[in-house]
Amino acid sequence: MTRNLQTIGFDADDTLWHNERFFKLTQARFAELLADHADCETLDARLLDSERRNIGHYGFGVKGFVLSMIETAIEVTGGKVPASVISELLNAGQELLAHPLELLPHAEDTVRAMAESHHIVLITKGDLLHQERKLAQSGLGDLFDAVEIVSDKTAQTYARIFGATPGGTAGAMMVGNSMKSDVVPAIEAGGWGVFVPQELAWGLEHADAPESARFRVLDDLGGLANLVCEIG
Ligand SMILES: [Mg+2]
Repeated sequence: MTRNLQTIGFDADDTLWHNERFFKLTQARFAELLADHADCETLDARLLDSERRNIGHYGFGVKGFVLSMIETAIEVTGGKVPASVISELLNAGQELLAHPLELLPHAEDTVRAMAESHHIVLITKGDLLHQERKLAQSGLGDLFDAVEIVSDKTAQTYARIFGATPGGTAGAMMVGNSMKSDVVPAIEAGGWGVFVPQELAWGLEHADAPESARFRVLDDLGGLANLVCEIG
């Protein structure tokens, strides 16, 4: 008997391991360094604008984030930001890249269990080297049948990746913390989308929940095995 669900795609950042909390800490340091020039709220808003403008140039990840912080620092100081501040921002970026990996609750058990029964794929965006390093640190790399580090996550991305798996897109499920990048486009491509929200979310990852019979929400990854069993 063929199962409904044959492939499970996992997002990485803030689905399998912590990510956004380290960006938020760096952003707090950024606000501290520029406190004489703008308040925290203004800095957050200007930085988000800069990140939005820069995504198309730099892609997702720490490098683009650091360049956006520098750009914002130049803007809010009217071009007078001291080199010492730029240097601190570069250091903060290096620390962000070097931060030890912390798996989220149930991530390891769930990935191990799903690897036994299903074709599993890691699908993540971000800086290539950084994502490869985090996956190596996670100790989960060998469990995945495939790892896809992509420049963006659109319906086309999921159609391409899931289309090449045993059950095609209809037999695939994407699990992640971003409604915009993980859930909505996977459903658009014809698969299932499972939203596992995290407390902290990046301002550019928000989207409305889709109205679809293939949409599910879980509190954490601990509920995934049951959901997969229900779908069959
Ligand atoms: Mg994520």
